[in-house]
Amino acid sequence: MPAVIPFTGQVENHEQQEWIEAINKHSQLCTLAPIDQLSQADRLAADIAVVANPDPAKLKLLPNLKWIQSLWAGVETIFASDINPDINVVRLTDPQLADSMAEAVLAWSLYLHRDMPQYRRQQSKAQWRPLPLELPQDCNISVFGLGKLGTKAVIRLQENGFTVRGWSRSDKTINHVETFHGDCGLRQILPLTDIAVILLPLTPQTENLFDAALFQNLPKGSSVINFARGRVIVENDLLAALDNDHINHAVLDVFVQEPLPVEHTFWTHEKITVLPHISAPTTIATAAAIAAGNIDRYITSGVIPDAADRARGY
Ligand code: NAP
Repeated sequence: MPAVIPFTGQVENHEQQEWIEAINKHSQLCTLAPIDQLSQADRLAADIAVVANPDPAKLKLLPNLKWIQSLWAGVETIFASDINPDINVVRLTDPQLADSMAEAVLAWSLYLHRDMPQYRRQQSKAQWRPLPLELPQDCNISVFGLGKLGTKAVIRLQENGFTVRGWSRSDKTINHVETFHGDCGLRQILPLTDIAVILLPLTPQTENLFDAALFQNLPKGSSVINFARGRVIVENDLLAALDNDHINHAVLDVFVQEPLPVEHTFWTHEKITVLPHISAPTTIATAAAIAAGNIDRYITSGVIPDAADRARGY
C-alpha cells in the first residue's frame, strides 16, 4: 500500500491538481492527496507533507509531521509562522530553477548594460542618439548571495564576459571570481559595483539590508536588480536614490506587497522596470520529480533530506 502524503498550499485549485498529478506520476511509493480529503487516520499517520505557501493551521492537523517538502525555494514565511519548530523544512532546490534564474540575471543585466531603458526613452521622443558602447569586461556586476541561484548566475554572467564579483555570509571560492563575505566584505564590494544583483534569502539579517546608507556606498550611476525578496530593499530609500540620480535604474521582480498595488509609484517610475515575480518560476515537471525522489528516498531509507537551517533563516 503506498503511503498517503498530504498536500497543503494556498494555491489555485488547478495548480494544486497539477502538482498532485505530477508528484504521483514520479513517485513509486506514495500517493499525494489534498489534506482536506484525508481521513483522520491518514492525517495521524502522516510524517511528511508537501506544501506550497501553507496555512500553518492546516499543518496543525498533522500532529506527527517530521518534515515538510516545500515546493518554493524561499522558506521565510514558513519560518516566520508558528508551525512546530521541530518539523524539518526542506526547500525546493531544482537545477532547472537555478538555470532559469541565471538566464533572467543575464537577460536583465544585458538590458542595463546595453542601455535599453535609455533607448526606450529616446524612442518615445524620436531621438536618434547613439550612446557609447561599454565593453562587458568593463562592466562590474556584483551578485549578492552565492547559493544555488547566485552561483549559477555568476557563471552565466562570466560566460558573457562581464567582470563578476560575489558576496555571501561565509567565505566562498568560485573559479576566477573575486568573492567577499560578511560586513567587511560588503563594505569592500559595494564601491566595485556597476550592477548589483540581489539573490539573498529573506532573513532577519537581510531584511532592509539595501537601505539609504548602502545605496550611498554604491557608485553613482550604478543599477540594481532584485530577484530575491521585496523586503531585502527599503523601497522608499531606493526611490530616493533613484530620484536624486545616485542610482541609475532598478529592475524589480519582487516587492514588499505582491501583487504590486495599482497605485504604487513603481509602476510609472521611468527608472524602474517592474516584473511580476517571474524571474525564475518553478517548473512543475522537474520540481515534482525532485520532491517525489526526496519522499521515496525517505520512505525507503528513513533519511530526511537536507533541511533549511531555522537559526540561519534559510
Ligand atoms: P541559498 O542556496 O540558500 O543561498 C543563499 C545565499 O545567500 C548564500 O550564498 C548565503 O551565504 C547568502 N546569504 C544568506 N544570508 C546572508 C547574509 N546575512 N549576508 C550575506 N550573505 C547571505 O538560496 P538560493 O536557492 O540561491 O535562493 C535565494 C533566494 O532567491 C531565495 O531565498 C528566494 O527568496 C529567492 N528566489 C526568488 C525567485 C523569483 O522568482 N524571484 C525564485 C526562486 C528563489 P552562505 O553561502 O554563506 O550560506
